[in-house]
Amino acid sequence: MSTPGARAVRVRFAPSPTGPLHVGGARTALFNWLFARHHRGAFVLRIEDTDRSRSTEAHIDAILDALRWLELDWDEGPPTPGYRQTERLALYQAHARRLVEAGRAYYCACPPAQLEAERRAARARGETYRYPGRCRERGLTAGALRLRVPAEGTTVVDDLIHGPVTFDHRELDDWILVRSDGTPTYNFCVVVDDVTMQITHVIRGSDHLSNTPKQILCYEALGYPVPRFAHVSMILGPDRQRLSKRHGATSVQAFREAGFLPDAMVNYLARLGWAHGDREVFTREELVELFDLKDVSPSPAIFDHAKLAWLNQQHMKRLDPARLAALAAPFVRAAGFDPGDPARLAGIMATLRERARTLREAVEVGRFYWERPRGYDPAAARALLTAEGRARLDALIARLEQLPEFTPAALEAAFRELVAALGLRLVDLAQLARLAVTGTTASPPIFDVLALLGREETLARLRAACAAAR
Ligand code: GLU
Repeated sequence: MSTPGARAVRVRFAPSPTGPLHVGGARTALFNWLFARHHRGAFVLRIEDTDRSRSTEAHIDAILDALRWLELDWDEGPPTPGYRQTERLALYQAHARRLVEAGRAYYCACPPAQLEAERRAARARGETYRYPGRCRERGLTAGALRLRVPAEGTTVVDDLIHGPVTFDHRELDDWILVRSDGTPTYNFCVVVDDVTMQITHVIRGSDHLSNTPKQILCYEALGYPVPRFAHVSMILGPDRQRLSKRHGATSVQAFREAGFLPDAMVNYLARLGWAHGDREVFTREELVELFDLKDVSPSPAIFDHAKLAWLNQQHMKRLDPARLAALAAPFVRAAGFDPGDPARLAGIMATLRERARTLREAVEVGRFYWERPRGYDPAAARALLTAEGRARLDALIARLEQLPEFTPAALEAAFRELVAALGLRLVDLAQLARLAVTGTTASPPIFDVLALLGREETLARLRAACAAAR
């Protein structure tokens, strides 16, 4: 919780809308959201759309949609105007003027061809190009605007995850804040946005760590307090290469379509870098309560699809059946079936969650709830759908026609009476009934299945199996 007197926590997630939301971005969003909720601070969403050639409205919509699905609600941001960089150009210009007036930035008129030639020569020598500061003292009034970076000394990024990281100013150069065509650069926009949005903690991917010393020098030049920084490690595939499509699904939308639960996704993303002992399963509320940046590892995290699937099943098992049914209904529809009565669907899902890792898998293993078996497992049919099997099915049909109540308990009692009368074991009759109603001998608990199918449907399937027996 925030200490008295400390500035209220304000964090932001700042996606560039150049593609859908991937797991890396989603995890950055989540860590910011958890940090904000833990400290009862504000979570700001900002769209970094200055790269107009690669940013699209469709990507913005997809990112917002994925965040809503993950239930990472933001306190400030779209659709309120002013949270897209393209709406904030006047702010960048005003801050650029301040830097010029304070002598902290200067105009550079070096021809692009000259800079390009120097850059190429540096690359040929195996060096990183640094602008030598030719225009520093020329007092120009037009051109590209560069930050005056101290030639000597160091800037330390006191990172909350990595500890202090020192950058020598000789590694930096007078970087461009505003291009000669008037467009502000990415690093400059981020600084102006973070100061004007009063961001206290910048939590972002460690691919941005090398930008941070440049940005800190810009805060200092503007005379603003520098926020705290926390750079979250990269996410790798099992081969320890940066996570990509080669490793399977990476967009949040793809996981949604594959039938993962938002709470499971949030739980899994939190565990990519953050840990609380060796515990794996957390509710959202528990994550909010326990999340702390000091428990985020500086080492890369490995994305493990099998573990996510396991975790998803754990969440499916813990979820309120009515909610599980509501989440499953679109998958039932997508498979071409009518989800039907919500209470019945909740009952169905309660039997399937033991046998499936995703909602999609649950619908797949539970197809028999919505369609009659198209055939019978051949080996089981040879063993069970015999003349003897037919006689047993006949007896079962006669018994179930008479059953006053078609509940799991009543069904179990009827099965037990019948097997006692016929001198059978319960499993013999149960397997036969299973094969008749599902087409296979593996299914959720048979009395639940029959009760959920209802008397009419159960009897129809038992009769069909009778007719198919030799
Ligand atoms: N827009 C940047 C990105 O999508 C994030 C910048 C930042 O968090 O400072 O990678």
